[in-house]
Amino acid sequence: MALLKSYRSPKTEIKKSLIDGNGLFAKTPINKGEIAVIRAGHIITDKELYKYRDVVDDSDLQILDNLYLAPLSKEEFNNIMTFVNHSCNPNLGLLGNIIFVAMHKIEAGQELLLDYAMFDNNKDQFACNCKSKNCRKIITGKDWMKKDLQKKYKNYFSSYLQEKIK
Ligand SMILES: [Zn+2]
Repeated sequence: MALLKSYRSPKTEIKKSLIDGNGLFAKTPINKGEIAVIRAGHIITDKELYKYRDVVDDSDLQILDNLYLAPLSKEEFNNIMTFVNHSCNPNLGLLGNIIFVAMHKIEAGQELLLDYAMFDNNKDQFACNCKSKNCRKIITGKDWMKKDLQKKYKNYFSSYLQEKIK
């Protein structure tokens, strides 16, 4: 049986990130609007997320108030991980809930980055190391509520969060 796995464009490759761990990089230029990643995963509830936290780690992607996409075994983890790091100066945005598209042209060699505010809605927070001029330093699971980010990303928020912003 084929393993559950996310789609990563053949124009991308996984390499050591300057921000955190491994990252996803453009092997060749990626045009604005082009699909870079389609995220896979089991559809699980928050109860199941809690139960599988050791396996899921921080690789879950929330798609509704009580539904997440996540791997449920160590074997699936690396196939489902997208390796897209957070940056406060991202070049990817969301189309729907699970498709990551280029917000503008991405040159070969550049790391593919999302602002996690585009899809996160939780009580977590982490320190950002993206080194961009507009870095927020502390990223919270409620950053989607910030008016300046809502204005900056508009339709690039997940459709799940766009419904909440309306
Ligand atoms: Zn940052």
